[in-house]
Amino acid sequence: MSHSGNVKRLSRREFGGLVAAAAALPMVPAPQNPPQTRQPDGTPPPLRRLVPDAPPFDATLEFTLRPVTLPAEPFPMTQVRLLPNSAFSDAQEWNRGYMARLDADRMLYTFRANAGLPTASAKPLGGWEQPENGQRASELRGHFAGHFLSASALLFASTGDSAAKSKADYMVAEMAKCQEKLGGKYLSAFPTTWWDRLEKGQRVWAPFYTIHKITAGMWDMYRLAGNKQALRVLEGMSAWADEWTAPKTYEHMQQILTIEFGGIAETLYHLAAETRDARWATVGDRFQKRSFINPLAQHRDELRGLHVNTHVPQAIAAARRYEISGDYRFHDVADYFFHEVSTARSYVTGGTSNAEAWLAPPRRLAAELKMSANTAECCCAYNMLKLARQLYSWRPDSAYFDYYERLLLNHRIGTIRPKVGTTQYYLSMAPGAWKTFNTEDQTFWCCTGSGVEEYAKLTDSIYWRDRDGLYVNLFIPSELDWTEKGFKLRQETAYPNSETTTLTVVAARPDTLAMRLRVPGWLRSAPSIKVNGRALDASAAPGSYLSLNRAWKAGDKIEMELPMHLRAEAMPDDSQLQAFLYGPLVLAGDLGAEGLTEAHIVGPNLRVGFPNVEQNGSPLAAVNRTPPIPDLEIPTFRAAGTDLASWIKPTDKPQVFRTTGQKKDVTLVPLNSLFDRRYSVYWQVARAQS
Ligand SMILES: [Zn+2]
Repeated sequence: MSHSGNVKRLSRREFGGLVAAAAALPMVPAPQNPPQTRQPDGTPPPLRRLVPDAPPFDATLEFTLRPVTLPAEPFPMTQVRLLPNSAFSDAQEWNRGYMARLDADRMLYTFRANAGLPTASAKPLGGWEQPENGQRASELRGHFAGHFLSASALLFASTGDSAAKSKADYMVAEMAKCQEKLGGKYLSAFPTTWWDRLEKGQRVWAPFYTIHKITAGMWDMYRLAGNKQALRVLEGMSAWADEWTAPKTYEHMQQILTIEFGGIAETLYHLAAETRDARWATVGDRFQKRSFINPLAQHRDELRGLHVNTHVPQAIAAARRYEISGDYRFHDVADYFFHEVSTARSYVTGGTSNAEAWLAPPRRLAAELKMSANTAECCCAYNMLKLARQLYSWRPDSAYFDYYERLLLNHRIGTIRPKVGTTQYYLSMAPGAWKTFNTEDQTFWCCTGSGVEEYAKLTDSIYWRDRDGLYVNLFIPSELDWTEKGFKLRQETAYPNSETTTLTVVAARPDTLAMRLRVPGWLRSAPSIKVNGRALDASAAPGSYLSLNRAWKAGDKIEMELPMHLRAEAMPDDSQLQAFLYGPLVLAGDLGAEGLTEAHIVGPNLRVGFPNVEQNGSPLAAVNRTPPIPDLEIPTFRAAGTDLASWIKPTDKPQVFRTTGQKKDVTLVPLNSLFDRRYSVYWQVARAQS
C-alpha cells in the first residue's frame, strides 16, 4: 500500500523525491531479455517466444471467455488440515486470536457512517481506518474490512471455524445494507466526491485499491464460505465500476491508472468466469495499464521507479486474464514479471521492494539496499506467493516452490508476533534493523490486512494434484483427505527445525497413484528416501521431484532426509556483501537489544536512525520518527578460506552458529526465530589474506 506513518502519509512529492534519489545511481542498461545460455556452437538460443516489434496492447482489447485447462491444481483448503504444535499451526492460531479480538461493529463503523446509518455505538478504529471525527482521517478507510472478509473465508476453509464465518456473514449482511442505502451498487467507507478527484487528476490516496479489497473480500466469502449475498454485493459493486469507467476514454483511464489501483481486474475476471458473463471481463480490461504490461509482454524490465505492491496484483490479474481467455500475451506478462522479480529484484529472503518501490535497475540490490531501511514490504511477499502458486498451476516445476518455501519460511513465518498475532509492514534487510508490529487497533497498514489473510491460509498449496496423482510441495505437519480417491495422507515433521519429513498413508484404495516429493534446490545431493523402512536405490536430483508410483496401502510410510548445510549468497552487484543460509533458512546475526523498547517495536512502521538513511537526506528520515536508539557498529568479517564451516561454527543449540576469529564475533540464528533484537542479514565479508 502507500507510504505512511501510523496515520501520517508520505506525500506523493516526498515519494517522488525518493524515486528521484534512486536516479542518482550509475545507469546500467536493463537487459532486454533474461540471460540466455549459448548453444555449443556459440550461437544464442532462440528466445522463449518471438518478441513482437509493436506494442501488443492498446485500446482495442477483445475478450472472449475461453478458459485454459491447467495441468495442476492445489487441493482445496477444506481437504487439508494443519497438525498442532508447529510454527505453522502456531501462526494460524495467533492470527486467529487477533482476528477474534477485532469487533465486527468497529470494522463496520466507517461503512455505516458513510451510508448515513447508525454506527451501533461502536468506537471507530484508528490508523489507516481512522474516520473523520476530529482527527486526521485516513483515505484508505474500509480496506481492512475487505481483507477481514477474505481472511475469515480463508480461515473457515482452512479450519472449519464456524464462528469466523458467522462474524463475516454478519459483516456481509451489514455491508449489503450500506450498499442498499447508497443506491444498491456503490459500496465503500468514503464519499463519492473522492471519485471526482480521481477523475480530475486531483490528489487522492488509492480509491480503487480500497474497492478491490472489498470486492475481493466478497468474492472470497462467496467462493470459500458459500455466502451468496456476497456475490450479489460484488455484482452491484462491479456494475458501479462499469458505469464509472465506461464513459471515460482509453487515454483518460490510462491517466487514472497512474493512481494505485491494485488487483481490481483480478476480481472482475473471477466474476466473469463464475457468471460466464463477459461484461465483467470487459470492465476488468479497463484496468490494464499499458505502460506496465507492454514492456513485460516484450520481456523488458522497466520496473524501476514503480510502486511494487500496486503492480504485483496487476501481474496476478494478467495471469487470471490468460487463464480465462487463452490470450498468451497475458501469460507472458505474468511469467516474465515473476521471473524478473524473483531472480533480479529479490533479497535473500525472497522479499522485494524498498520504500514500497523498485528503486534500482535489476540486479542492483546492494545499491538499492543503501537507499532506505524499509525493504521488503510484507504485502509484496503475500502477493508474490499468490503469483508463484498461480504460475505453478500452469507448469508444475519445483523451482516455483523453492522460491515459495524461501519466502514462506523466512519472510512470512517470522513476521507474526509470537502469541500476540500482530504482523509487520516491512521486513528490513538494513544492518541493525529490528522487527516492528502493528498496534492492536490503531494501525491497520495494508500489510495488517494481507497479514490476517496470509496466516489464515497456511493449508494452501502444501499438496497439489494432477491426472496422475499428487505433489507434496511443502514440508508442513498436516493431513490431506483426498475424498474423491479415498486417499488420506499424514505428514509429520519438525522441518525446518529438523531435517526429515515422514509421510504416512492413512487410507488408500488399491489404485495406482503417483506421489511426487519436492526435492529442494538448496540440497547438495540427492536425498535418501526410505519406504516402509527400506532405503530406495533411486533418488532425484536437487531441484526436481522424486516420483513414487505404486498402489498405496494404509500404513505405508515414506521418510525423506533433507540434510542442511551452511552457504553464502552474495548480492549480484557486490560479491563481498553476503548473507548466510542454513538449508532453507536465512540466518540473522543477533546484535543485541540495547535501547530497544516496546515503543520501538509496536506501532512505528518506518525504521529511521540508520546512518545511510539520515545521511542520504531521505525524506523517510523525517517521517514517523521512533524514539532514539543507540548507534550500532555493524561488524565486518574476514573469511578464513572458501569453506564457510571453517569460520562459522555450530553451537550447542540446533541451527545456531557463531563466527570465529573475527574482530567482533556474532551469533547467527534463523531470521524467522529472532524477535525483539536488532539484527543484520547482510555482511561485508572480505577474503582473508593468506
Ligand atoms: Zn503492505
